Amino acid sequence: MSRRKRNLVLAVDDETDFLELIEHIGQGVGCDVITADSATGFRDQLTRRQPTLILLDLQMPGMDGIEALRYLARQNISAGVLLASGMDQRVLTSARQLGESLGLRMLGTLQKPAMLEDIEALLARHLEPDERISLDDLQRAIDEHELIVHYQPKLQRAAHDWQVTGAEALVRWRHPRLGLLYPGDFLPLAEQSGLIVGITDFVLTDAIRQIGHWRSRGLHLAAAVNLSPRLVQDLEFPDRLARLLKEFDVTADQLNLEVTEAASLHDPDLVMDIFTRLRVRGVGLSLDDFGTGLSSLTQLYKMPFSEVKIDGSLIAEVMATKPAATVVRAIIELAHNLSLKVCAEGVETSPQFEFLEQLGCDALQGEFIAHAMPAAEIESFISVWNGGDHTLIPVVRK
Ligand code: C2E
Ligand code: MG
Ligand code: MG
Repeated sequence: MSRRKRNLVLAVDDETDFLELIEHIGQGVGCDVITADSATGFRDQLTRRQPTLILLDLQMPGMDGIEALRYLARQNISAGVLLASGMDQRVLTSARQLGESLGLRMLGTLQKPAMLEDIEALLARHLEPDERISLDDLQRAIDEHELIVHYQPKLQRAAHDWQVTGAEALVRWRHPRLGLLYPGDFLPLAEQSGLIVGITDFVLTDAIRQIGHWRSRGLHLAAAVNLSPRLVQDLEFPDRLARLLKEFDVTADQLNLEVTEAASLHDPDLVMDIFTRLRVRGVGLSLDDFGTGLSSLTQLYKMPFSEVKIDGSLIAEVMATKPAATVVRAIIELAHNLSLKVCAEGVETSPQFEFLEQLGCDALQGEFIAHAMPAAEIESFISVWNGGDHTLIPVVRK
């Protein structure tokens, strides 16, 4: 079945201009859009159709967004919910948490006014891939250069403020029919089939070439690349990597590799061998997604990591729940006692930023600072940020 038939977006908003925009975007990303500009319209649409995604404005005359969430929960609606509002991010985040506590599938938030590209990316990201992506498709994507790499800036604590010192490489697939696909849409298949090896080589090469390019523009930036568990079992990998670094005349300390705990579950001795060889050469090694799933403290001191990245799901809760804040504080302290740097990812709000700054976090990443973006946009972002013009983003100075 094609994507158009399966994905139905219900956009609920009192601004008809906004609804028209969503209809327009829907055509672009290949989904059907139905709309409602009132509480009655909203309920009517839900009795007639079964949307896969609901984009809900929190503030509408005559309709309380929270009541709308309760209504969705009472109706057992299984659609994913995206909240939109002109109110500040904190309100959006609490509404999102409330939706989660009601058992709704809360997918994200959109702060208005929003750029067309941001809405498009948000919708495309949450549409269900309803057409199974085949292995042939993925192989073709690699061969025909449909994969691209976006970079998300990473801030590092400097003497008096925060500076952009690097970026994380995140793969995307510019699919000819389905639009922009995110790692969650195709990496599981890539992992199962082994195509992840070629994909990682592609991302690594792009990132290393990019570091060289930035240097030629006078920017000394590091890049972080996510490594699949499969590659940390590959004894040839450190040598392949060394050849790549040499080819682009990039030093190992400008590269950071990110791995998750799953990487070393299978054959810890082999992984230790590979990790140690990488560290000896000077490559940084981060333990990614720490604080979720399997997180084991032993990994922190047994494996030669240089950094721990606290998972965004934990950061999302730091302002709302005391236990989450306690856990984050403890992770930072523990990591520092083990001489590891700590990066918080998924920083979405100013209070989170300030809190993590106060706790002594060394690096920060997240949409509050910047989304992942094409490499070409990184330079202008950095010149604004490092140049001290933080007008768009209220950075907290020490
Ligand atoms: P990750 O390495 O933990 O990357 C961070 C993810 O969080 C990225 O999602 C990023 O876009 C997203 N993110 C960044 N800031 C925020 C924020 O403020 N809020 C929220 N909610 N999310 C934020 P993305 O790009 O979809 O990547 C998902 C995962 O896919 C990555 O998680 C990584 O494990 C994997 N991945 C991405 N690119 C590659 C790759 O080239 N190779 C391999 N092996 N895995 C990759
Ligand atoms: Mg990562
Ligand atoms: Mg992560």
